[in-house]
Amino acid sequence: MKIALVTGGSRGIGRAICNKLAKTGCYILINYNKNKDAAEETLNIVKSAGSDGEIIQFDVSNPESIITALESWKEKNSGKHISVLVNNAGIRKDNLMMWMNDNEWHDVVNTNLNSFYNITKLLIQDMLVNKFGRIVNIVSLSGIKGLPGQVNYSAAKAGVIGATKALAQEVGKKNVTANCIAPGFIKTDMTKDLDEKEFKKMIPINRFGTPEEVASLVGFLASEEASYITGEVISVNGGLYT
Ligand code: NAP
Repeated sequence: MKIALVTGGSRGIGRAICNKLAKTGCYILINYNKNKDAAEETLNIVKSAGSDGEIIQFDVSNPESIITALESWKEKNSGKHISVLVNNAGIRKDNLMMWMNDNEWHDVVNTNLNSFYNITKLLIQDMLVNKFGRIVNIVSLSGIKGLPGQVNYSAAKAGVIGATKALAQEVGKKNVTANCIAPGFIKTDMTKDLDEKEFKKMIPINRFGTPEEVASLVGFLASEEASYITGEVISVNGGLYT
């Protein structure tokens, strides 16, 4: 049974990813930061999908928190390893650059970009030794195109895209792939303050996407069938011009 770690698995896109990977037979490590009840609900969904998993709390923006949680999981599970990593947890703290404060910059970069480095670094060695690994990073249209009010978020997501392309070239020989998925507007807590009626006018498919529409691509990229796809950035955005 493949073991998959999904960061930010408690809600939104992460929850749908946990459900999808559970349906493909993975054992799911559901990471959350603050919302334990939501993480437990995701675990129930995973079990209803016919698989199993556990919840694992750590703050992806905090390297000590990541190391403590993942090293202690490894100690308790010797002989097992995580072969699917979905770096999904993310936040936005939008502001125009001229008003942006240091916390808005650093919190967004730590949560969306530095988390990729700190988590992937801990897990990549096992994937290389076992000659199988799937890394899927959830980025954003904002990281491809740049969006006003999101200098911090666009920078962080673009950083993950560059890192993914470089990493893919480092680990391909060992049957480890690394790809990005760039969602457009997806209906979750993150976008609940946006007026869908207004924004959908610029989306060819004329609506926001669902978390499941992102998760189905994660399911494919995490599978054996996607073994010849690496270093890619695939958009799931209803045809928004990027
Ligand atoms: P969401 O509904 O706001 O959920 C965020 C998830 O991330 C929650 O599970 C949350 O955990 C977790 N999280 C946040 N900060 C964390 C931290 N420091 N440590 C650990 N977990 C943390 O967001 P979403 O819309 O599903 O977004 C998921 C990913 O897709 C993000 O990377 C986001 O940037 C990206 N994305 C979303 C959209 C969109 O339109 N929704 C578009 C493009 C890209 P708790 O429940 O514990 O708070």
